[in-house]
Amino acid sequence: MDIELSADDLKFRDEVREFFQSHDYKPGEDYAKWRLDWFKAAREKGGWDVPKWPQEFGGPGWSPTQHYIWEQETARANLPWDLPFGVGMVAPIIMTYGSKEQQERFLPDIRARSVNWCQGYSEPGAGSDLASLKTKAELTEDGKHYVVNGSKIWTTMAHIADWIFCLTRTDSSGKKQEGITFLLFPMKQEGIEVKPIITLGGSHTVNTVHFTDVKVPVENRIGEEGKGWTYAKGLLAHERTGLAGVSRSLVALEKLKHQAGTVKRGNGSLFDDPSFRGKLAKLEVDLQALEFTELRSLARAASGQQPGPESSILKLKGTEIQQRIAHLTMEAAGPHMAPWGGVNAGPKFARGGTQSYLGSRAYTIYGGASEVQKDIIAKNVLGIRSQGGSN
Ligand SMILES: Cc1cc2nc3c(=O)[nH]c(=O)nc-3n(C[C@H](O)[C@H](O)[C@H](O)COP(=O)(O)OP(=O)(O)OC[C@H]3O[C@@H](n4cnc5c(N)ncnc54)[C@H](O)[C@@H]3O)c2cc1C
Repeated sequence: MDIELSADDLKFRDEVREFFQSHDYKPGEDYAKWRLDWFKAAREKGGWDVPKWPQEFGGPGWSPTQHYIWEQETARANLPWDLPFGVGMVAPIIMTYGSKEQQERFLPDIRARSVNWCQGYSEPGAGSDLASLKTKAELTEDGKHYVVNGSKIWTTMAHIADWIFCLTRTDSSGKKQEGITFLLFPMKQEGIEVKPIITLGGSHTVNTVHFTDVKVPVENRIGEEGKGWTYAKGLLAHERTGLAGVSRSLVALEKLKHQAGTVKRGNGSLFDDPSFRGKLAKLEVDLQALEFTELRSLARAASGQQPGPESSILKLKGTEIQQRIAHLTMEAAGPHMAPWGGVNAGPKFARGGTQSYLGSRAYTIYGGASEVQKDIIAKNVLGIRSQGGSN
C-alpha cells in the first residue's frame, strides 16, 4: 500500500533506517550484551524501546504514520529478541489498572528487558472459555497473602520466565466472570513446577505450570479483588493486535515471490505458473486490505484509545494470512521440505520448513482461537445476536 509520506515522515523513516543500520548485530559480537545495548540506545532515541507506551510512561508519542513506518521498518530489520509478555502485555495493564507503587516497581525492569514475564491465563479446562478458570487464590486470615493452588497450561516461555501475571479465582459464588483476581508473582519459588510440552513442530516453547500453596503478597494484586476479568479483557485486545503480524507478512510475501522465482517449472519458474501466481495475488490483496485495518487500529492507539473489536479482525485475518504464506512456501519447496531437522536438500528456503509450517498451525489457536474471534466480530462489529442468547 502506498500512503503519502510527508517530508517529515520521510526524514523519520531515514532516521529509523539509520538507527537500525548503525546498531545492527555484528557476527561474533556478544549477543546478550548487544541486545541490552540495543534497547538502551533505542531508549535514548526518545522511547523507541517502547513505541506503543504512552508518552507519560516514556513512549515516543508518535503519530499513526510514524507507527506505521516503524512497523514496516522493523519487519525488515534485525531486531533483538523480545518476548511480548512484558512490554506489550502486562505493562499496559499495570499502567492502566496498577497503583503508582506497582508502576514504579515493575515498569522499569520490564522496560529494561531485565525480567522475563509469562502469561498464566489458560487452564486445562479453561481456554476459549477462559472465565471458567479454577486456579484458586485464598486470602490468609491476616489478609496479607493469597495462597495459590491450581494449574495453568500452554504457558509460553514459563521455563525461562522470572515472573507470571496470573488469573486466579478468589470467589466462585457469582457469575463466572466475577471473582477473578489478577496477581503478579515470581516464577522461581517453592511450590511452582514447570513441565515442558513439545509441540507438533518439535519445539519447546509451551509448558504446564502447577502451583502448590504459592504465597503471593496482596501488594502484588492488580486493582481490586474479583475485578481481574475486566483487566484481562483489555490485555487480550492488546495481545490480538500484536499477533496480526501484517508488516512481517508483507516482507514474508515478498520473500516468497522471490523464492518462487528460483523454483523451476516447465520453461520458466514457479512464479510464472498461473495457478501459483493466482494464489499469490489473492494473498496480496487480502494482506493489503488488512493493512488498512491495522492503520485504523494504529490511529485509535495514537489517539489514546484502547484497541477495539477490530483487534479480532486483525488477529483472525492476520494469522490466517501467516498460515497461507507458510502453506504456499511448503507448496513452493515441494518434497524438499519433507526432511525433518534442516536436512540439506533442494532450495535453501526449504530447510527446517516443515517445522515452521507445523508450528504455524498454532497461530489460529493462541491469543483466542479463530472461531472465538468470529464470534466477537459477529457480536461487536456486525451486531449479530444469537437467538435467545444473552451473552
Ligand atoms: C502455541 C501456543 C501458545 C500459547 N501460549 C499461551 C500463554 O502463554 N498463556 C496462556 O494463558 N495461554 C496460552 N495458549 C493457550 C491458548 O490461548 C488456548 O489454546 C486457546 O485460547 C484455545 O483454548 P483451548 O486450547 O483450551 O481450546 P478450546 O477452547 O477447548 O477450543 C477447542 C476448539 O473449539 C473451538 N471453540 C471453543 N469455543 C467455541 C465457541 N464458543 N464457538 C465456536 N468454537 C469454539 C475453538 O475454536 C477450538 O477450535 C497458547 C496456546 C498455544 C497453542
